[in-house]
Amino acid sequence: MQAISSAAQAVRRLARRQASSLGAYNAGLSSEAVRNRYGVTEIARLASNENPLGASPLVQQALSDLARHSGVYPDPNSQALRAEIATLTGIPPQQVVIGNGSENILEMLCLAFINPGDRVVTLLPSFGLHEIYPRMMGAEVTLVAVNQALEFDLAAWRLALQRPAKMVVFSNPSNPVGCMLGRDDFLQLIAAVPQDCLLVIDEAYYEYCADQADYPDSLALLPLQARPWIVLRTCSKAYGLAGLRVGYGLACDAELVALLDRVRTPFNINRAAQNAALAALRDRQHVADSVAWVSEARAAMAAALRTLGLQVAPSSANFLFFDCGYPSERIAEALLAHGIIVKPWREAGYQRFIRVSIGSAVDNRRFLVSLRQVLAEAAP
Ligand SMILES: *Cc1c(COP(=O)(O)O)cnc(C)c1O
Repeated sequence: MQAISSAAQAVRRLARRQASSLGAYNAGLSSEAVRNRYGVTEIARLASNENPLGASPLVQQALSDLARHSGVYPDPNSQALRAEIATLTGIPPQQVVIGNGSENILEMLCLAFINPGDRVVTLLPSFGLHEIYPRMMGAEVTLVAVNQALEFDLAAWRLALQRPAKMVVFSNPSNPVGCMLGRDDFLQLIAAVPQDCLLVIDEAYYEYCADQADYPDSLALLPLQARPWIVLRTCSKAYGLAGLRVGYGLACDAELVALLDRVRTPFNINRAAQNAALAALRDRQHVADSVAWVSEARAAMAAALRTLGLQVAPSSANFLFFDCGYPSERIAEALLAHGIIVKPWREAGYQRFIRVSIGSAVDNRRFLVSLRQVLAEAAP
């Protein structure tokens, strides 16, 4: 066994306990890594909920002249982008915060609000960072599981919310399950939240259900109650801009944005990201096309998975969460050898589940063909 160097020992000794004990975020493998490891050429990336249509063509234009300005710092306040988001959402620009991905805003919220010992309540299975960032600050995290039907469990939430909490955070629709909290249930859930608590509603998949009659209009409903709140959205999913890292938050009050400004790095959104997001947000047609493709292809993929006898959670987002019937790490590993990247779930109780993104027609078909083969080979 190799001895641990004295530098490594010092790192371990000096590290904050909350940092060294953190679980690692499961970011999955890069296409490059899969190519090298399995010798496959064609990769279907179905693990990160990216948009198979990519970004709007307007983004390419917005980035074309960028090299000339590379030497100059970007706008630390992303003024133009915040104005565009204000126009898009009806929320004043002083109540808009931009993040290097919405994950960056989750980090800012935890830096600004969470003291060691504070309680944070979130959903299970969960988006990893809803749990990891609070724990990084020393929070105690309560996970509220979905029910048997893989939907929000309102009774379990009511129970969990009987004790004080500093922050309640969940995604709607949820990642990884895809289930959506309807308007009435949303109102009931937030009414059960302790008064002295920050509500964080992560709407990373907002665009995929904004047109559904039952999807709660959080920006209209949250101001009707007294708790502070913030709604998070992102350019990474329906806008196809995951590689450039832009997310935004819509806050109850300018005071919250001013607080987050104190804890964030001053130039957190680089020039390319600001320009690209501005162009992407203006192309409404591209978003509409992306959303239309997902709803069509998702229905077809869910039907195909159910034909294989698998339990598939209802989804309002650009992915499906299903029970593959075997330890999902094993099935996902076998799919990698076919050049197909999906996300096997690792949280206790969900280790037979796989989350698969809705990709291009070609990638979806390859996934289904390979899955059928892999499951047949796994059968005893
Ligand atoms: C993808 C995702 C995010 C992260 O989005 P970025 O803006 O790329 O950081 C945040 N929350 C949820 C629930 C997500 O699924």
